[in-house]
Amino acid sequence: MAYVISDECLGCGTCEAECPVGAISQQDDKYVIDADTCVDCGTCAGVCPVGAPKAE
Ligand code: SF4
Ligand code: SF4
Repeated sequence: MAYVISDECLGCGTCEAECPVGAISQQDDKYVIDADTCVDCGTCAGVCPVGAPKAE
């Protein structure tokens, strides 16, 4: 299980700084989550202004 960032992402970078395991990185103008690194904590979803990270 991992979180996935949807197309709603604004590219603000807030979630990248908050992820405890460094699973989030910038890709073009949006951010992506490495599913193998994500520990499913939900922090990114909690800090995102538009709710782009979704639990898959
Ligand atoms: Fe990082 Fe947690 Fe979001 Fe996974 S759910 S990308 S571990 S902040
Ligand atoms: Fe995108 Fe939300 Fe992360 Fe900002 S906090 S980079 S809008 S997923």
